[in-house]
Amino acid sequence: MEKVVIIGSGPAGWTAALYTARAQLAPLVLMGQQPGGLLTTTSIVENFPGFPDGVDGYELMTRMQKQAERFGAKASFGVVDAVDFSQRPLKLVVDGEPVTAQTVIIATGAGHKHLGVPGEHELENKGTTYCATCDGALPMFRNQPLVVVGGGDSACEEALYLTRFGAEIFLIHRRDSLRASKIMAERTLAHPKIKPVWDSVVTEVLDPSAGRVTGVKLRNLKSGAETLLPCAGVFIAIGHVPNTKIFQGQIAMDENGFIERQTGAATNVPGVFVAGDCSDHVYRQAVTAAGMGCAAAIDAERFLAANQA
Ligand SMILES: Cc1cc2nc3c(=O)[nH]c(=O)nc-3n(C[C@H](O)[C@H](O)[C@H](O)COP(=O)(O)OP(=O)(O)OC[C@H]3O[C@@H](n4cnc5c(N)ncnc54)[C@H](O)[C@@H]3O)c2cc1C
Repeated sequence: MEKVVIIGSGPAGWTAALYTARAQLAPLVLMGQQPGGLLTTTSIVENFPGFPDGVDGYELMTRMQKQAERFGAKASFGVVDAVDFSQRPLKLVVDGEPVTAQTVIIATGAGHKHLGVPGEHELENKGTTYCATCDGALPMFRNQPLVVVGGGDSACEEALYLTRFGAEIFLIHRRDSLRASKIMAERTLAHPKIKPVWDSVVTEVLDPSAGRVTGVKLRNLKSGAETLLPCAGVFIAIGHVPNTKIFQGQIAMDENGFIERQTGAATNVPGVFVAGDCSDHVYRQAVTAAGMGCAAAIDAERFLAANQA
């Protein structure tokens, strides 16, 4: 039986592994379908402390893995298919095989909702992005017209953040008013750089043949009119989906599937802790995920010490 099983190998998972490994708990890290997590899909990370010149996302995650392995963390390519947290020891099914554990740290992250329109995928990291805090300051967006898609709090936050860099920010929303909280909506619409485009959807991101974003095609849902809006960046903020399906019915979650924390990193199931974007719909950053991984590891270590046979 494992003392600690960590599900996920993003910043939350590897930080939890580093701390539990240094506590001599020899954690088993199940890396899942995306070893290294979401950061491996980006080139330069400029806001992770300790890298004044930025760092390649894949390299950062490889370094985190090496650091945890140096202290005895065990990496496995396993994908967790199912869990049974109803009794102790905790049970997991990993690629069809049973694994038992005294503690589990869930760090399975969250995915972005995609528009699913032509050009979106091809231009990812070439002007299409899902995170203004991560990418907004990049030179390609400076003093350029930018597009934000969405109408909730996240979209408003992204648009407001981008006013520091972009020339003007077009906020594309399928309805004629924002879904965001009143105060956020008012602040957003009052900003002189932000221009709402109501009742409209993006139907295509241009131009894959140019190798960068040059504009978006829009359709007005009321009139059916199609227009072309030139821009250098498309920031898609239409929501996140936590990777928590396998825990449904096993652990307390909010209505969107984000795992709820009780005290610190503890969930409602004794011995099960959570860290990173699968439990955080607010910050969603590598450094906050890493911080939560640290907290989950310390909580798991204390749980084991308090429950020693
Ligand atoms: C393109 C892009 C650029 C970004 N740039 C930045 C940036 O510059 N700075 C920044 O701070 N943040 C950035 N982010 C956000 C950052 O990547 C996330 O906040 C961070 O990765 C969250 O870490 P995490 O450990 O919670 O989850 P993730 O990194 O998403 O890792 C989740 C892990 O869980 C595993 N997993 C999922 N399901 C299972 C399962 N059933 N069994 C086993 N394993 C499973 C996956 O394989 C993966 O390893 C960016 C995100 C994207 C998409």
